[in-house]
Amino acid sequence: MEATIALAGNPNSGKTTLFNTLTGARQHVGNYPGVTVEKKQGTYSRGGLDIKIVDLPGTYSLNPYSMEEEVARDFLLNDQPAMVIDIVDASNLQRNLYLAIQLMEMGLNVCLALNMIDIARTRGIEIDTEKLSRLLGVPVVPTIARTGEGSKMLIEAASKASQYDRSPLTISYGDDLDQALDEMEDLISGKDFLGDICHPRWIALKYLEKDGKIISQGRERDPELSAELGEITRRVADHLEKTMNTYPEAVIADHRHGYIRSIIKGVITRHHGEDRFFLSDRIDMVLTNRFVGPLIMIGVIMGLYKFTFTYSELPVNWLESLFGWLSSSADAALPDGLVKSLIISGVIDGVGGVLGFVPLIMFMFLGISLLEDSGYLARMAYMLDRVFRYFGLHGSSVMAFIVSGGIAGGCAVPGVMATRVLKSPKERLATLLTAPFMNCGAKLPVFALLVAAFFSENEAMVMLAITLIAWCGALIVAKILRLTIIRGESTPFVMELPPYHLPTFRGLFIHTWERTWEYIKKAGTVILGISIVLWAMMTFPALPESQQTEYERQRQGLLASTPSETIHEVETAQGRTLPTEESPALQTGIEAIDRAENEARVRYSLAGRIGVALETISSLAGFDWRTNIALVGGLAAKEVVVSTLGTVYSLGETDPEESSSLAETLRESPHWSPLAAWSLIIFTIFYAPCIVAVVCIAREAGSWKWGAFSVVFNTSLAFGLSAIVFQTGRLLGF
Ligand code: GDP
Ligand code: MG
Repeated sequence: MEATIALAGNPNSGKTTLFNTLTGARQHVGNYPGVTVEKKQGTYSRGGLDIKIVDLPGTYSLNPYSMEEEVARDFLLNDQPAMVIDIVDASNLQRNLYLAIQLMEMGLNVCLALNMIDIARTRGIEIDTEKLSRLLGVPVVPTIARTGEGSKMLIEAASKASQYDRSPLTISYGDDLDQALDEMEDLISGKDFLGDICHPRWIALKYLEKDGKIISQGRERDPELSAELGEITRRVADHLEKTMNTYPEAVIADHRHGYIRSIIKGVITRHHGEDRFFLSDRIDMVLTNRFVGPLIMIGVIMGLYKFTFTYSELPVNWLESLFGWLSSSADAALPDGLVKSLIISGVIDGVGGVLGFVPLIMFMFLGISLLEDSGYLARMAYMLDRVFRYFGLHGSSVMAFIVSGGIAGGCAVPGVMATRVLKSPKERLATLLTAPFMNCGAKLPVFALLVAAFFSENEAMVMLAITLIAWCGALIVAKILRLTIIRGESTPFVMELPPYHLPTFRGLFIHTWERTWEYIKKAGTVILGISIVLWAMMTFPALPESQQTEYERQRQGLLASTPSETIHEVETAQGRTLPTEESPALQTGIEAIDRAENEARVRYSLAGRIGVALETISSLAGFDWRTNIALVGGLAAKEVVVSTLGTVYSLGETDPEESSSLAETLRESPHWSPLAAWSLIIFTIFYAPCIVAVVCIAREAGSWKWGAFSVVFNTSLAFGLSAIVFQTGRLLGF
């Protein structure tokens, strides 16, 4: 006959995992007779062994207080397995050994599987297995059920030990109970009372514990003896009540715990980890408190935000000056023409655009590394998980959203990179595709321009509305994506919170630098090419020779009408050195011609033609060709929208930060209305991310497919929403 091994253990100790490891596919699931408790059986046949394995229900004790406990105990008493493997959670030995003690008291052949030894180790708990085995008198085998580590050794140890009969464990329960137990034991063994169920001392113990099931069985067999045992129990209970104000069950439990404590005292060594855990729990009582926690979290988020965007300002400015200097040097050194334009607008601006993000990324990663390494990030995720989970995201998604501009003024490039803290690929993808909907710093000038032009009375309200629209849009789109193309179960949130610890400077520095360098390598190479393509789109085809000469002729005509002694060399907006004079009239005149030429040039270029061609469709959302060109330009970088609008409205290059004259122009333009402004605001929030962000999305998502998706999907979504807003608004008569 094949031997039976039963797996016992507390709930969540890893019984089922171990059972699956041992039996593989050879298992049979049924119910214990008459109850709904699941009974799992299987066979282990390896290395010449052929063993039947039964997975008992998880229990903390063997007093039949619950159906699971009763089922487990009945099985052990009736089927008398050759061996019971008690799976104990090594990180929680004190509590788990309670069941082991009871099994051993029953006189069963027990073997301990010290499971989750990996978790115990990471918590700094070291267990001397040999000593534990010696003290308990049973084999003890460390295991990691999840990986199967130790399972072979466990079975070998168990089947070897099953060949020896062991005597039941006897624990002292103090003088009073020990005396009663001895007395009862004598009576029981004299009559072989319930001898088929268990050994005498255990039956006596059950009488002391007032175990209803055993007592009623005893009453049936031998009412007289049962009454006698009941009388002894009453006597000792009265005595305990009088002397110590306690009762037998409590004394028994106390002594069992005491016995366990004395055993593990010399077996467990706790490293600093345990103390850290204790301290961490204390800290968590405040930091993840239901009321204070969120407030602290808002503070931390604001802090990170400020840190990223305020302190990076200085190096950003240095880089800007550096590239400004490079531009003007190139300007001075190179002759006018295409090459110069390519080098300045294509190469220097492109590379500058990429490197301009470097300080931002460094500061953001430094901040996030700090939060991650210290353990706080896990707490944030823990607190926010319920909200984000509803939208198919993860608590850790919040970082990406905030950094991308969840508080207006972030940047999607570091935001997309911040999704690295997400471990699950699906939630990460959904986050990095929706984070660019946040209002990054480059979209702000566009909003500022439109708000100044059309909603100057309630600026704050409109800006708040814009922020809310971005958040709602991002979360709803995330939900939709997670229900459709990125469908899949959310990863179960790992509740385990790592202990807090102070990050090291070295660790922070290395983390930050690695990530930043990766960005430079990954984005830098592609951006240069794309930036040149965009430059070419705005430059070619060039204005026909005849038109260029016509503008030149106008300028010369204006000059000719001016007295020559007041003429000096002055640089125009286009960077061309032209003779002009101190009279404002002439200067304005020349600049007006320059701008007209600029407008014509942009309109004539490929970007311009696309803008014009799109006008038929884009008018649905209220955009004319000028807006279209600006939006195409915005693909390079969102701040270009404002400067391009300036160009096409013949105002010359417009500094995005000082656009008041442009605002005025828009307000008075017949093409514009508050409704059209709203439409453009909506479009700006949702349309394709700038090119650097797209490259980052493609890199982080691991495929250009997702980069392309974010361009096409976001732009379609943005256009759909804008058109709906514009058309509905018109119907309602705005
Ligand atoms: P049962 O309630 O005793 O059947 O426990 P399960 O087998 O369902 O395991 C509970 C959880 O602990 C599962 O998520 C397992 O993947 C995990 N687990 C089980 N054994 C180990 C282990 O040795 N190490 C670690 N880290 N996790 C484990
Ligand atoms: Mg289970």
